[in-house]
Amino acid sequence: MRTRSPEIVLQELIEGNQRYVAGQLLHPRQTPEYRRALRDHQSPIACVLGCADSRVPPEILFDQGLGDLFVVRVAGNVVDDVVIGSLEYAVLHLQTPLLMVLGHTGCGAVRAAMEAMAMGKEGEGHLKRIVEAIRPAIIESQPELNDRLERAIHMNIRRSVRELLSRGLAFSSLVQEGQLKIVGAWYDLESGRVEVLEEIA
Ligand SMILES: [Zn+2]
Repeated sequence: MRTRSPEIVLQELIEGNQRYVAGQLLHPRQTPEYRRALRDHQSPIACVLGCADSRVPPEILFDQGLGDLFVVRVAGNVVDDVVIGSLEYAVLHLQTPLLMVLGHTGCGAVRAAMEAMAMGKEGEGHLKRIVEAIRPAIIESQPELNDRLERAIHMNIRRSVRELLSRGLAFSSLVQEGQLKIVGAWYDLESGRVEVLEEIA
């Protein structure tokens, strides 16, 4: 049984982000003693599927410590089978009550996918796989509008949430039971603020 509610965990992350934005980091749970106390177990309060971008480290921008966040980072925060498997481990075995997909302003992966599509290219090497994964979000986000990169980034976050909900083992039933919440969130590189886009599940 999960020991914390998804709502309480989300509030803890929001408060940690507020400390980060204000430059008042507590750096909790990072001492040698705490590290040793975690040697044989972990009980993270949240999972984050975030972008691999070097400027978007979840532990820092939510002011969390060791053992707090189960983080999967991949360019463009896209979902594939390995990502889902990692998150299933956290949700089903570590009983993590919150799963957040964290995108960000100016995402280079989404921009690269848009440029590749505009030029009719697929992307170089294995980048092709990332372009393929992001392409549906670009198509769905009505890219003819002015703020097209931002819209595509938002849609890419929403699509990842939807995909996790539909493909993660038992995720949708846990959500229905109130034991799991899956949210999309958006990080502003300039202000440092994380905005929860919508509580999709
Ligand atoms: Zn990115």
